Amino acid sequence: STPGGSKAKEEKIVVTVRLRPLSKREQLAKDQVAWECVDDHMIVYKPPPQDRSAQPASFTFDKVFGPVCLTETVYEEGVKNVALSALMGINATIFAYGQTSSGKTYTMRGVTEKAVNDIYNHIMNTPERDFTIKISGLEIYNENVRDLLNSESGRNLKLLDDPERGTVVEKLVEETAKDDQHLRHLISICEAQRQVGETALNDTSSRSHQIIKLTIQSTLRENSDCVRSFVASLNFVDLAGSERASQTHAEGARLREGCHINLSLMTLTTVIRKLSVGKRSGHIPYRDSKLTRILQHSLGGNARTAIICTLSPALSHVEQSRNTLFFATRAK
Ligand code: ADP
Ligand code: MG
Repeated sequence: STPGGSKAKEEKIVVTVRLRPLSKREQLAKDQVAWECVDDHMIVYKPPPQDRSAQPASFTFDKVFGPVCLTETVYEEGVKNVALSALMGINATIFAYGQTSSGKTYTMRGVTEKAVNDIYNHIMNTPERDFTIKISGLEIYNENVRDLLNSESGRNLKLLDDPERGTVVEKLVEETAKDDQHLRHLISICEAQRQVGETALNDTSSRSHQIIKLTIQSTLRENSDCVRSFVASLNFVDLAGSERASQTHAEGARLREGCHINLSLMTLTTVIRKLSVGKRSGHIPYRDSKLTRILQHSLGGNARTAIICTLSPALSHVEQSRNTLFFATRAK
């Protein structure tokens, strides 16, 4: 079978929505479920009896994953084709977008794990080619780039414009994975490093973006007159909480703190909206933030993108859930 699919028309941006179950904490707080997936395309807001002003609302997407859906299903139906196109030489990026505690990290970890399985299965089943998998990991916090594979000196890394490779992160460590075990180990180092930041500066994960980047190089073993080698990037991006993208909360104390609005997240939403509009969208402001500069060559152009928008079902989060669904609607 051909990973990445060989359908004539592959969508450039695949947008899906994942609604998680009500958490223990939400249950204990007597929060209520306000959203329901009526089928695998439609999610509906069901105002509870006490919310008389609210109107029911429904949103339709290519795919909506309900609270009983496994990450496996999210991967198979929302991510796999995009991720595996990197094995054919096409740059790809997988995002998790949603408010803090909606399930971004939970989902990204699961789909990264599944993608690693598929990558190594493909390598095993493709004996005629040689593959090299490299990995780097970084975090963007307040527009500062930190290396997740180099906790010693990998801070405040600079972005450089390389005439051949585009934007590169200076001094970012890139490791070559010896096999799938080793790759998993390196991914776990990146995840552990992000956790370290989290305890030192509380709340980091709601403010920072994490990128795990796999670089896939492949060459044909047999001599051939065709150009039969390629390099592609596959990025797994666990974004800052989407509440950091909404203007409405940037008032009072938080605005004075000056760190509520997240430049990278705001720029990313603009870039994605423009890409989804297509050719007539004019200038795309990739260069306005670190996140979009770093991802520029894996967003738009020939690259493929999967965005999983994660939602809490809780009534208390209804405003943020709506915002996430508005973003998802515009990204389609
Ligand atoms: P975020 O990264 O968006 O802040 P997390 O991924 O940390 O959110 O998820 C918040 C909590 O909800 C975690 O305890 C996580 O294990 C749990 N959770 C998230 N999504 C699901 C899901 N689909 N099924 C079960 N538990 C989930
Ligand atoms: Mg998280």
